[in-house]
Amino acid sequence: MAVAESGYSDKTDDQRAITEMVRQFVDNEVLPIAEEHDHEDKFPDAVVEQMKELGLFGVTIPEEYGGMGLDLTTYAMIVEELSRGWISVSGIVNTHFIGSYLLMKFGTEEQRQELLPRMATGEIRAAFSLSEPEVGSDVQGIKGGAKQVDGGDWELNGQKMWVTNGLRSGLVFVLMKTDPNAEPAYKGMTCFITEKEPGAAENTGDYAGLTVPPQIRKMGYKGVESTELVYDGYRCSPDRVLGGEQGVGEGFVQMMDALEVGRVNVAARGVGIAQRALELALRYSQERKTFGKPIAAHQAIQFKLADMATKVEAARLLTLKSARMKDAGERSDLEAGMAKLFASETGKEVVEESFRIHGGYGYSKEYEIERLYRDAPLLLIGEGTSEIQRMVIGKKLLQRNKI
Ligand SMILES: Cc1cc2nc3c(=O)[nH]c(=O)nc-3n(C[C@H](O)[C@H](O)[C@H](O)COP(=O)(O)OP(=O)(O)OC[C@H]3O[C@@H](n4cnc5c(N)ncnc54)[C@H](O)[C@@H]3O)c2cc1C
Repeated sequence: MAVAESGYSDKTDDQRAITEMVRQFVDNEVLPIAEEHDHEDKFPDAVVEQMKELGLFGVTIPEEYGGMGLDLTTYAMIVEELSRGWISVSGIVNTHFIGSYLLMKFGTEEQRQELLPRMATGEIRAAFSLSEPEVGSDVQGIKGGAKQVDGGDWELNGQKMWVTNGLRSGLVFVLMKTDPNAEPAYKGMTCFITEKEPGAAENTGDYAGLTVPPQIRKMGYKGVESTELVYDGYRCSPDRVLGGEQGVGEGFVQMMDALEVGRVNVAARGVGIAQRALELALRYSQERKTFGKPIAAHQAIQFKLADMATKVEAARLLTLKSARMKDAGERSDLEAGMAKLFASETGKEVVEESFRIHGGYGYSKEYEIERLYRDAPLLLIGEGTSEIQRMVIGKKLLQRNKI
């Protein structure tokens, strides 16, 4: 059951058309398979093939490279719809979107021409990798490194952690230390475009030196794999430095820029999961009766629904505002942080309220809310925890309001 919408919409005609198309796709193809795939932790191959046909891997890639050339705002609307169905499906496009953003903004023209057309069709899919077993929030503390050897090739060594799409992707945008003595540390970091064999645990030939250990077993966010990656003497040529020679030492800044749009993306996922939890609560509360009436007739339940719907709407507005600012070429670091913080917390809160409204059935695997309850907490962590968002927001507020 979708929540009734008013006639008013601040979407353009094109945005309405594409989000409607994605909503139908989600209702017809994603929601019906999500529970089974979640319970069996199974990758949704058929859904991904359909997403390729719909062009969803190339939403933000410019038309000249075979994509749709849509803006971040429209992308955020699409991500909300996908996440309303199953956040794992949005996770499959999320890292790919970050990879294509990195290429579009920082890649050389050769890198763009070579990779973007194949990324736009989904022929190759991308992952991105900052985190390590000992480092997540404090990105400057990574240990993985790369050094130039022989004829100028780079050799990469290090262990990466929590790489979403780490097994099935064909490209990993990976951050490595290239100057361990740099002061400050972030100036000694470089982003490499590492190629691999999709689906191979042990890479050989040109990609030898990159191993993908068995996927990490997770509480939720099933279906899409999160893996470690072990670079052990992996070689790549200098043209695999993002941005070419000029990109050496620029990796941290490039990745932080990409995380800003990644935060809008996670915010949109928070809105999507919260929206779905609200829909489930609206339906269940009108079906379930206690004390002779539907539970929706109890004021305590109505108040919950009221707070849930208000938070969903507020999270959506914050998310779209930050996306629109970025599209307008304005700085949106503060706004993206606020959107990510508020929408991910909203995702968790609204899912929990919906779970409560479902009573004992919310605890049963027969009900969709059980999956949402396990999926929602991821959004509090990925692309920077809530604590890190508050640090970003606080710092930016003081910078912008210096006395
Ligand atoms: C399912 C999943 C998928 C992921 N996918 C990817 C991916 O594709 N690519 C990738 O690179 N990473 C990925 N990550 C990693 C994710 O980005 C990190 O988990 C996240 O950044 C937090 O890092 P950490 O887990 O090392 O926590 P830590 O940094 O160790 O933090 C632990 C706790 O301390 C808090 N904390 C840390 N520093 C401070 C501080 N200065 N002040 C106050 N509190 C602080 C944190 O908020 C947190 O509560 C994924 C994670 C998960 C769970």
